[in-house]
Amino acid sequence: MDFRFTEEQEMTREMVRDFAQNEVKPAAIELDRRPNPEDCIPWDLIKKASKLGLRTAAIPEEWGGEGADYVTLALILEELGAADHGFASIIRGCYTESPRLVHELSPEQRDEFLPKFLQDDTYLIALARTEPDAGTDSHFLYDEPGASIQTYAERQGDEYVINGTKHFISSGGVAKLYFLYARTDKKGPISTSLSLFLVPSDTPGFSIGRFHNKFGRRLLPNAELVFQNARIPARYLVGKEGEAWGSEGEGGGGPQRDWSKGPGAPPPFGLLGAAVNLGTVRACYEEALKYCRERIQGGRPIIQQQHVAIDLARMKVQIEAARSLLYRAAWSWQAKQDYDPKMGMLFKAYVDEIGVQIASKAIGLFGGMGTGDDDFPISKYLRDVYTFLHGFSTTEVAYLIGAPTE
Ligand SMILES: Cc1cc2nc3c(=O)[nH]c(=O)nc-3n(C[C@H](O)[C@H](O)[C@H](O)COP(=O)(O)OP(=O)(O)OC[C@H]3O[C@@H](n4cnc5c(N)ncnc54)[C@H](O)[C@@H]3O)c2cc1C
Repeated sequence: MDFRFTEEQEMTREMVRDFAQNEVKPAAIELDRRPNPEDCIPWDLIKKASKLGLRTAAIPEEWGGEGADYVTLALILEELGAADHGFASIIRGCYTESPRLVHELSPEQRDEFLPKFLQDDTYLIALARTEPDAGTDSHFLYDEPGASIQTYAERQGDEYVINGTKHFISSGGVAKLYFLYARTDKKGPISTSLSLFLVPSDTPGFSIGRFHNKFGRRLLPNAELVFQNARIPARYLVGKEGEAWGSEGEGGGGPQRDWSKGPGAPPPFGLLGAAVNLGTVRACYEEALKYCRERIQGGRPIIQQQHVAIDLARMKVQIEAARSLLYRAAWSWQAKQDYDPKMGMLFKAYVDEIGVQIASKAIGLFGGMGTGDDDFPISKYLRDVYTFLHGFSTTEVAYLIGAPTE
């Protein structure tokens, strides 16, 4: 067994840590406080990250990107997550969606969209599944006729005409391209009625509704997407009509992807998002450790109180266990060794659980200082990890463990 990162991975980590701690973290503390979610969007950081090659890191070198391996993507996101969960989630979106340009699109679609993504420092891609009445139902198979996603795309000549509303879409309102999941059959079960489309942000009939005013991860914009007779060329259908269910593999597991040419199975779903969460949880622990070493009460640092030291030790053990799971899961997919597709969700569920425990404990260790974030961003960590709890986690793990294996 060899648990070392390569020299290149270590260099990437150093570069990202420097950017994250010196530029992302201070900017994020200020942006996070702005009351209007549209004012929290970190445009300068997005551009700087792009110049550093972080936005395009998941695109293979032969297609013009940095060609970072999966372990490297996870470690970049851990470092960015240690500076700001919301900003790191924007970059995470680039890693889950941009490989689809290479692996899932037809050659004509790829030639149209990949150069735009590569050349524009502000080009982001969003994934649009969730609707007001189809949340978990848009991810877990609920196959009653006509149930689940309702956004409808109707073929009219050389176009599709789209009607419906999506909500909570990450990078919604700022992305230049949307992977949109819509029905092409109003009455059928979703397993055979769902199709995938490319929708550029300037599509006629497509507009942004409200930006959701979340209590955490505020640098990540989440928005409503409104389609009112939106028209896209028929050539923007990805794959075939009715075959998009199950195509949302992380890093692109779509209908056209031939896994025999990649590492052999869809990447561990949920893993990269949870790598961000782990970074935030780690930063929270590190802040608490520092504070407890510095804060003097009763004539000595509070870390010398046994219960404080035990709390910190538990946090450390949980974080190291989670990091082992993260990098083992990332490596096992990449190396095609002992890979279990459930590992992404197992990791997410675990980090969700320890994240809220650690952030809550940390608030207590800061005493009164934990209740405001004027000097210490400790309550921001709590807001950020709570905002990551939505959906999936233990629900998904329970579903995966109970689901049929084929
Ligand atoms: C910050 C953020 C970012 C997001 N980004 C995106 C994005 O980029 N793209 C996108 O398409 N969506 C996105 N979403 C939406 C997200 O995927 C949904 O919130 C999630 O699927 C849950 O759906 P819901 O909110 O409608 O909750 P519901 O489905 O209403 O669930 C409510 C509760 O019921 C439980 N539940 C529901 N059904 C079941 C079941 N079958 N078995 C067991 N328990 C169940 C859930 O676990 C949950 O606890 C985002 C949401 C947030 C908050």
